Amino acid sequence: MIYMNLKSAFKKDGCPICRLLREQEERYFFNLLYENVNDGPTRGLIIDSMGLCSYHAWELQARELKEWNDGLGTGIIYEDLAGRVLNELSHYLSPLKQHLFEKYKDSKTGINGQPGSKTDAGRTGRRKSFLPGKYILKIINAVTKKKKPSEALAERLSPEKECHICKSLNQSEEAYLEWLVSGLFAPEFREAYLASGGLCLPHLRKILKFVEEKWAAYILIDKAKRELKVLDNNLKEYVRKHAWDFRFEPKYPEEQASWIRAVAFFAGEYRGNAADTVISTREKALYDYGRHSPHHPTET
Ligand SMILES: [Zn+2]
Ligand SMILES: [Zn+2]
Repeated sequence: MIYMNLKSAFKKDGCPICRLLREQEERYFFNLLYENVNDGPTRGLIIDSMGLCSYHAWELQARELKEWNDGLGTGIIYEDLAGRVLNELSHYLSPLKQHLFEKYKDSKTGINGQPGSKTDAGRTGRRKSFLPGKYILKIINAVTKKKKPSEALAERLSPEKECHICKSLNQSEEAYLEWLVSGLFAPEFREAYLASGGLCLPHLRKILKFVEEKWAAYILIDKAKRELKVLDNNLKEYVRKHAWDFRFEPKYPEEQASWIRAVAFFAGEYRGNAADTVISTREKALYDYGRHSPHHPTET
């Protein structure tokens, strides 16, 4: 199956490993949003990592908006997570006494109850008498290695496990790279690889760690060198034809595409799914939320 996937990816444009991983990501998001949002084990994995990593969280949002023009699935997942975080915060706050809050509030205000300025005598005076004690406390804490008051909460708010999509993609990536190396023994597979667009630099770096035979290393490195040489020639022409003297020379598609393909070679193929409409919807949500959502709701 892995061989077949690799051989089919060799026939398509771009880095075959990047392509296969992206297809896997797409299948995952489709299944998640189509039928697995309420699936217990899937939700368990998302809870373990306190949501998804930043990249996959935004991918989830982008894909649901783009494909469903809605956000119910993402909303359900994050509503559950928000409830869990709220529980942790409430659990931490409940034993604290009101006077601690009053003391904190008092230290933040000036002599007239207004936020203090640098010239505010009351605030400056308070600070002068307050600082040495704080420093002493800091030193004592450092010496005794006493935990900071909210350190335990920070731990409870931290993910127990890494993003399961990243984890699954990393495992697949490793498998594809290992199988690609071992496939080089088979002439038909090797020819298919040599006819492909070759690997991006991140995947070239990774695959070289799996190579045990010198001839296999030679095949991979020679292929990479030939692909990069073509890219470099196209880039040179692309840059050269920007000069005034050469402005009327014909510009070929492979040259015009070369500056973007150079980014793909160094960074790996583009993974994101954020169309313009997705980005503008995010910007609008940021703007609308800031204007219509109360920032300091009273507790009910
Ligand atoms: Zn790649
Ligand atoms: Zn991730």
